Amino acid sequence: MTNKVTSLWDSYVISLRIAADKKGKLTQSFLGYILSFIFQGLAYAMFYPLLRSMFKESFILNEILFWLSSVFILSIISMICKWYALDFSYANDLADVAHNLRLKLGEKIKKMPLQQLNQYRTGELNSILSQNVDESVLHMGVVAGMAFEALVIPLVIILTTFFVDIKMAFAIIIVLPFSYPIYIWSRKLTKKEKEDNLTAHSDLEADTVEYLQGLPVLRSINQVGENSAQLQESITNVREVQKRGVFGSLIPLAVMNTLIEFIFLTILSFGTFWILQGSFSLAALISLLIIVNRINEPLVNFLGIASVLDTMELGFKKIEGLLNIKSLKVDQPKAMPENFGISFKNVDFNYLNNEKKALKEVTFAIPSEAMTAIVGPSGSGKTTITKLIMRYDDPSIGEIEIGGINIKNMSQDELMSLISVVFQDVYLFDDTILNNIRMGNPKASDEEAKEAARKANCHEFVSRLPRGYNTKAGEIGGSLSGGERQRISIARAILKDSPIVILDEPTSALDTQSEVAVQKALDELIQNRTVIVIAHRLSTISHAENILVVAKGEVIESGTHDELLKKEGKYFSMYGAQQRLKLWNLNRE
Ligand code: ADP
Ligand code: MG
Repeated sequence: MTNKVTSLWDSYVISLRIAADKKGKLTQSFLGYILSFIFQGLAYAMFYPLLRSMFKESFILNEILFWLSSVFILSIISMICKWYALDFSYANDLADVAHNLRLKLGEKIKKMPLQQLNQYRTGELNSILSQNVDESVLHMGVVAGMAFEALVIPLVIILTTFFVDIKMAFAIIIVLPFSYPIYIWSRKLTKKEKEDNLTAHSDLEADTVEYLQGLPVLRSINQVGENSAQLQESITNVREVQKRGVFGSLIPLAVMNTLIEFIFLTILSFGTFWILQGSFSLAALISLLIIVNRINEPLVNFLGIASVLDTMELGFKKIEGLLNIKSLKVDQPKAMPENFGISFKNVDFNYLNNEKKALKEVTFAIPSEAMTAIVGPSGSGKTTITKLIMRYDDPSIGEIEIGGINIKNMSQDELMSLISVVFQDVYLFDDTILNNIRMGNPKASDEEAKEAARKANCHEFVSRLPRGYNTKAGEIGGSLSGGERQRISIARAILKDSPIVILDEPTSALDTQSEVAVQKALDELIQNRTVIVIAHRLSTISHAENILVVAKGEVIESGTHDELLKKEGKYFSMYGAQQRLKLWNLNRE
């Protein structure tokens, strides 16, 4: 974290970046504010001649009226400029800027590699999309107006004071060397405070989301209290940061207030002294005091406003961090495969936060419309292979092809239209069971979705639900067994009817009875498709046309079950171990 105070110019440049295609309007609005406050400053300055003509011994009505109407006219011009500036407001442009920023972020989240997306905590993304977006546009309307008011009006007043009385102008200018360090000091304090505040809130949000997501599991193992420790810590942290923040921003405010009080007293004493000496007029002193009184508030406000600029900048940094992540590129010419064999050519892959290579020079070709099993110890890279087929991220070296077409030449939508996946864990959306199945193919009719459910062996248990296919998953979430959820996910895949099916240990968490039901559903799904199955129990895949044995990120053997047994290598020993375990279990019964 830098402790450097961002200059107002830098803040302006960032604002233009946030405004994106509205930057023209933003600049016009800022110009409107500046003009408005120049005219307002000039209107204040007219107090000098106005009061002077009122205090004249020979009272001339026309002269008074002239200066009075000047004040009026300048004020009206100032108001018009301000209305113009205010046109850039939340009612239209600012809401659009925020909206566009959110669309851009949404687009980025859709297109960025899942691997990068996984680096973010869910709650962190929430706060970027909601809080940070609002924070970065917040300053562009009224707050910008207040900042310009605090900057422009004092400047115009000081300049015009030079025409009234040079000594007095210098008396006001004397405070500038004092107020600048106060400003910098205040910004340093508030910047630190805003940074802490932002981090504390983002952590709180992420911890809350994760705690809530884990709550069902925590309840089931009676750990609700113990695991809330982290959440409680971040709640406490927010309170501490807020307390410190309020304290930190109050001190500079108090000092600035004292300083302005001090200008007032200085002018009063010098003025009185000079009037007694006869070198200054009472009219000038009174008008000066009125004017200084009017710039009091904007100057004090300015400190508070400047800290809003820090919030904007920090929020926007988070947004840019997300926007700067590369999107998955689609190489031209785009093409779609005609057959669905899959080949890896010399693929290396590293996870972002893991120095160890997850895959090393992996090369294999699996045939179209056949079943290929991937086996190997846990952590050997099986799931990583399937993730890369779905372009979770690009391999650091090497290429992946489907039907001879590099997957980089397909759009993400096209690629995903080719593949259905059944994982060990099934995610059900809080919608009806029928719609959960329909997610496989949103265009499918009710009848088609029900047909897929029948094929996936779902019909019987769905019929037993309180409202059948129209039961909401949320209402019964916990009461569906692992095998039942698994069959819903298979129904989705049957409905999607894609040429490639990936099964990542779909039955390894199930009891024998559920496994039989799920296996039946799978048999329906995998006909005439390219199937990749990752299985723990080797007996379930012994009939696969092709088996890849993976160890430590490398494919070390491949062939059919019989060929691999004959080799007497890794597969042979894994199979032998499982057979012995089975015998041992049988003997115990
Ligand atoms: P398998 O499916 O064979 O059990 P994986 O493909 O899931 O193995 O994992 C292969 C290796 O990559 C393991 O060493 C694992 O620790 C690592 N790995 C998997 N996922 C991630 C991740 N999201 N971040 C970092 N490392 C990971
Ligand atoms: Mg795995």
